[in-house]
Amino acid sequence: MSFIDRSIRTAFLGELAAGMWLTLRYMFKPKVTVNYPFEKGPLSPRFRGEHALRRYANGEERCIACKLCEAICPAQAITIEAEPRADGSRRTTRYDIDMTKCIYCGLCQEACPVDAIVEGPNFEFATETREELMYDKDKLLDNGDRWEAEIAANLAVDAPYR
Ligand code: SF4
Ligand code: SF4
Repeated sequence: MSFIDRSIRTAFLGELAAGMWLTLRYMFKPKVTVNYPFEKGPLSPRFRGEHALRRYANGEERCIACKLCEAICPAQAITIEAEPRADGSRRTTRYDIDMTKCIYCGLCQEACPVDAIVEGPNFEFATETREELMYDKDKLLDNGDRWEAEIAANLAVDAPYR
């Protein structure tokens, strides 16, 4: 662009007009943003969010304290202690996840033979302190109870590919 062209464009605010024209054109196009948190985008059934411990329909814990999830966790974020119950079944007495260590790899879920530990669809669990991210068994079972419908639906959708 020559000096004269540049001068004319500057004198008549050509750049500003071009910018305003671009803005005007986009005002009438479909919006690509969502008004979070009032609107949310779609999530894959394989989304790996906050952890949860699931129960069977009769309320019994699924987890049989095999410790495969603890063994496979590359971040060593899971701590399990277990004892046999009076009826001879084996259940955890302690199931902790240090969520500050977790890298959300999903290996715990993959290793679990009874679909007890899962990564659910919840991604809104930011906290103000590190302590709140030290999850214990009660917290994980509570997550499972709260998200069971969504978790079960996601597992069913993904089942043919596993
Ligand atoms: S998602 Fe990965 S890092 Fe996190 S607890 Fe499970 S196995 Fe460990
Ligand atoms: S959550 Fe699953 S893999 Fe982990 S101890 Fe319980 S049954 Fe075993």
